[in-house]
Formats: sequence, structure tokens, C-alpha cells
Amino acid sequence: MRDIVHYISGKSVKGAGTRFGDVFDPNTGKVQARVQLATASDLEAAIESAKAAQPGWAATNPQRRARVMFEFKRLLEANMDELAHLLSSEHGKVIADSKGDIQRGLEVIEFACGIPHLLKGEYTTGAGPGIDVYSMRSPLGIVAGITPFNFPAMIPMWMFGVAIACGNAFILKPSERDPSVPVRLAELMKEAGLPDGVLNVVQGDKEAVDAILDHPDIKAVSFVGSSDIAHYVYQRGVAAGKRVQAMGGAKNHGIVLPDADLDQTVADLVGAAYGSAGERCMALPVVVPVGDKTAEALKEKLLPAIAGLRVGVSTDTDAHYGPVVTAAHKAKIESYIDLGVKEGAELIVDGRGFKLQGHEGGFFVGPTLFDHVKPEMKTYQEEIFGPVLQIARTQSFEEAIALPTKHQYGNGVAIFTRNGEAAREFAARVEVGMVGINVPIPVPVAYHTFGGWKRSAFGDMNQHGPEGVRFYTKVKTVTQRWPSGGAAVDSSFIIPTMK
Ligand code: NAD
Repeated sequence: MRDIVHYISGKSVKGAGTRFGDVFDPNTGKVQARVQLATASDLEAAIESAKAAQPGWAATNPQRRARVMFEFKRLLEANMDELAHLLSSEHGKVIADSKGDIQRGLEVIEFACGIPHLLKGEYTTGAGPGIDVYSMRSPLGIVAGITPFNFPAMIPMWMFGVAIACGNAFILKPSERDPSVPVRLAELMKEAGLPDGVLNVVQGDKEAVDAILDHPDIKAVSFVGSSDIAHYVYQRGVAAGKRVQAMGGAKNHGIVLPDADLDQTVADLVGAAYGSAGERCMALPVVVPVGDKTAEALKEKLLPAIAGLRVGVSTDTDAHYGPVVTAAHKAKIESYIDLGVKEGAELIVDGRGFKLQGHEGGFFVGPTLFDHVKPEMKTYQEEIFGPVLQIARTQSFEEAIALPTKHQYGNGVAIFTRNGEAAREFAARVEVGMVGINVPIPVPVAYHTFGGWKRSAFGDMNQHGPEGVRFYTKVKTVTQRWPSGGAAVDSSFIIPTMK
């Protein structure tokens, strides 16, 4: 059995830990490898390596650091096929989707290539007599990222791309369910010229996470995963004096107004609800038609579109989506479908018990559709994270905007309409962090910033974009006056004010 281990100081390192986690092939249901789960002493080795490397890296001028990022981007492109196959083999998403995962991370690397410009400080000349003020941004030192299973390439790159370009050393603790791609990314960073120790990968579970959160040498922690864990990570990390951003779960709504282009909307909804088997934090698992006429027309078009979906193994280039990540996750999704029926929602398409011929052991779930889903239902309130679309009917714009606004999660939302005035009002009023107007999955481009509201994100600063640079740096402001050789300037015992 293949063992997936840590990556410290530019090489594979078998740690002291004796615990291992199973890594499955979701297409077959079989265990394909074991991942070593770190102890606190394994983390210590990564910290020591990062400590030795970080000062030299921070002292490397930003343009040289950017050159490593340019080369890394080239290597990502050159290795795209290999990376995508590796990613699909552990995650289960289809190859085209894995390429999208890598591509969205690559775009953050492109953003990080602009680091010399992004790190420029501000300068004010003549803030007082002979006084100039300037600010500079410095790296924090050693920082860490803890990532979920569903984007094993993009999310690590959201974090380490920006953190490393800023001059930090980075410790990545990837999901134990698909740990191989993060190691390949670290190897490619080394190949791109990154000094050993600037990027270390520590495999593990809660024990490794807790060690990261408590370690005094780690100055900031970026987390992405489910909300309860995000909240825990935020509280424990902040209590230990760290800067923490912790992104959580989601339940994104797609509002459909009566004037929407229904053919386009249905195509968008089906891709956004069922793509990647619904295992995206920006998936659209709830559709909110306004008016019963809209609901009926939408349903009529959704049914054949869902019937046309092809579920297949991740290497099947004709498949729309593949298996979910583990048997436990498949069971959880199916139990939510059971619960939806019990709660009184109308199950129109049932994906339970789906078997793919020749791959009966695979973790497949068929596309599922519920109608008449109500806000008081648990299956509406909670994140299912599977190929399950729920129709929650409303009778007015106000009722529709209230649903995502009142929901515990506030990651993404979309509105489908031809009415610019309604869309503009919706974007201004809805209590959600990322809004799409006729765009079903409004993941912001790399030079903007990613982050939800409410229980979808704890902490103040978002991922990537200018907020990412702020998260991974601290600002210092210098106020200077040089002796002019003239009369002495009066010093004061009161707080200086600018007249
Ligand atoms: P998860 O919360 O189970 O795991 C995330 C990370 O936390 C992993 O590295 C895992 O090892 C670690 N972890 C798990 N249990 C822990 C514990 N008890 N204590 C400390 N650490 C622990 O999430 P997942 O299943 O890997 O990913 C799916 C979730 O992530 C979904 O809820 C999804 O919405 C969310 N997500 C959010 C975003 C976003 O940006 N808001 C993006 C992607 C995924």
C-alpha cells in the first residue's frame, strides 16, 4: 500500500506519527493509499525548517520572489494533465472539473506574480514642516493553511500563492481525504526555484490542526472547511493570539424572477447544482422561483435537463459528474434525502441507491430534485453538499430576497432576471458575500476577493486579491523628520497635532 507522507525542507518525510488515514478511489470504493497523520513533533520539524528558511526568503527582493511564481505558473500549465488525473483519482470529480480547480488556483498565482506592485507602501510628503510619512508592508513570518477536500489545488493556492509571494514561510495542512495534489504543488514550487522550507506540507487531521492553532511561532492561520470547524479554528486560533480567517459552509440560493431567460437559467442551475456532485461551496443547491407560474415552467424544463445528466467515473469525458468523496459522505447525502421526504418536501427525482454498472462499489449518488421545500425544514437550513437541488417556492421579490438574507449561511447567491433595477436592488440588499447576476457560480476572479458572510466566514479578511495581501502582511508606518541645520524645532509635551 502506498503511503502519502509529509513534505518538509524540500523532500518527502516519514514522520513519527503511527496513525494513518485511508485514501479512497471514489470510483471503485477501494482504499488506494494511506496518509500519515502528523503528531505535534512532525509539525515541529516543519516549523524548524520554515524558521530557517523564512528570513532569507523575506529578504529576497519581491521581483525575484515573483519570478518563482511565474515559473510555478508555467510548471502548473506544463503538468496540468498529470495533476488533474491525480486530483480526480482521489476526489472523484471529472477531469475537466479538476482542470478548473487547478486553473482557478493558477489564476491566484498570476495575481501573486504582481507582488512587487502589490507590496508598495504609501507615502505622504510634507505631512508637517519637514515631515514625511510612509508605510511599508512586511511578511508575518510563518503562517499556516488548513484546507478542505473539495478543492485540493485551488484552495491551497489561494493561500500559499499570496502568503509566499509576500515573503512568508507557509505550512499547509491539506485534507486527509485527497492529500496527494498538495504535495505535488509543493514539489513544483521547489522546481520553480522556491528555497527548501518556505513551503512545507504536514499531513494530518484534528491533532495536526490543534498543534498548528496552539503553536506560538505560527502568526496567522487561514482555514477553509465546514462551519462548525471553522468557528472552532477561529476561536482557538484567536485565543492563541493569531490572525485567523476561517471560511465555512454554504447554502447558496438561485432566485428566478418571472422575466428570467428560463432556458439559460435551467442550463446554469443544472451545472451549478449538480456539477462536481454538488461538492462545491459555491454550488447552487436551492432554487427560488418567484410565483407558481415561474415554478411550474422551471420544473418543466428542469426535469428533462436532469434526466439528461450522465453520472460516470471521473475519467469518463462524457460524464457531467463523478462519485462523491467517501462512502460516509454518500451515506450522509442519502440520509438528508430520507429526511427531506420525512419533513414533507416533494421528492421528484430520487438519486438514492444509484449504481453505476461495472463500478457498483463507487460512491455515486444520482441527481435528486425536491419541490415545495420550506424554510423550517432541516434539509433547507443545513448544507447537504451533494447532487441535491431543492425548489423553495416564493410569491414575491420580498419573500425571495428574505430567504438567503435570513439563512445562517451567506456565501454566494445568484439572481436570474432581465430586470436591471431588480437585480441592482437585490445585489445591494441581500445579506450574502458574493452575488451573481445571471451568473450561477459567482466565484470572484483572483484579483478581487473571495469570502462569505454570517456562518460562511469567521474573521475579517477574505481570501486572495488585495485582502489576501493584507492578511499575510503587517503594516508599519514611519513618520520622519531630518535635521535641517536651521533653528531647533520646538518639542512639545502635548500630543502633536497638524496645524
Ligand atoms: P471539514 O471541515 O471536514 O475539513 C476541513 C479541514 O479541517 C480539513 O483539513 C480537516 O482535516 C480539518 N478538520 C476536520 N475535522 C476537524 C476537527 N474536528 N478539528 C480540527 N480540524 C478538523 O470540511 P471538508 O468536508 O473537507 O470540506 C467541505 C466543507 O468545506 C463544506 O462545508 C464546504 O462548504 C466548505 N468549503 C467552504 C469554502 C469557502 O470558501 N467558504 C470553500 C470550500 C469548501
